[in-house]
Amino acid sequence: MKNQSFLNCCNEKDLKDLFYYNKKPKGETDFGIKRYKRKYKICKNCNHMFSYFNFNLKNLYNKKYSENAYGNKEKILNSFNKIISLPLTSSDNKNRVKRCLKYLNKKNLIFDVGCGLSVFLFELKKKGFKVSGLEPDKNLFLHSKNVIKKNIFNKPIEKFKLKKTKKFDFISLNKVLEHIPYPENTIKKIKNILKFNGIFYIEVPDQRAVKFGKNREELMIEHLHVFSKKSLQNLMIRKNFKPIKIRQIKEPSGKYTIYGFFKNK
Ligand SMILES: [Zn+2]
Repeated sequence: MKNQSFLNCCNEKDLKDLFYYNKKPKGETDFGIKRYKRKYKICKNCNHMFSYFNFNLKNLYNKKYSENAYGNKEKILNSFNKIISLPLTSSDNKNRVKRCLKYLNKKNLIFDVGCGLSVFLFELKKKGFKVSGLEPDKNLFLHSKNVIKKNIFNKPIEKFKLKKTKKFDFISLNKVLEHIPYPENTIKKIKNILKFNGIFYIEVPDQRAVKFGKNREELMIEHLHVFSKKSLQNLMIRKNFKPIKIRQIKEPSGKYTIYGFFKNK
């Protein structure tokens, strides 16, 4: 099996096999993979986990990705409506908004990279913030445009260009980084479109979920990287961000998550 995830911090010799999968775990999206085989290796220094497999990643994120993961247009809207109606005590998104409010003011330009269902942006917009977002998946983009109205872009982050050179005050990357083979490139790109002293908010699944076994949502096939607090912090410091706050939490949905606020310096 081939390594599909890359990070500059860990040496190949420090990695050891952790979990092996020869069939799709229950609850994982069915991508129709024949001869399912994958594994995670873990770094003995920083506990970062790397994904190994032999199928083509491009086939996972084809235009049917959101259809496989969420269903059609109507189902996407239903999921959105269901999530926005959750109370604070059972909503991951509303708790995320609450965390971020401390670092935001109404003049800020907010940019959510990989806005997905746009629940986060919708909640911020409702509170009067200036929001914008990026979503590479066509169906999720159309949905986001429908609920947020303006400043939603349909392209991968590598292809995003600032118009009129206005940089953002606050950029969020919620449960996105773990899907990307080379997270360092994404962080570098984000640094370029964030103001000096601007805030970068990141959320990733926490590798501490491994203590509950290999079939956890945090360890699904789309997650090429599973971060530890140390590996996330190391990555951000390497990319010249100053950590303000990094926490490990269990979310209302039961997910183990690491979140962090970092300053662009
Ligand atoms: Zn490491």
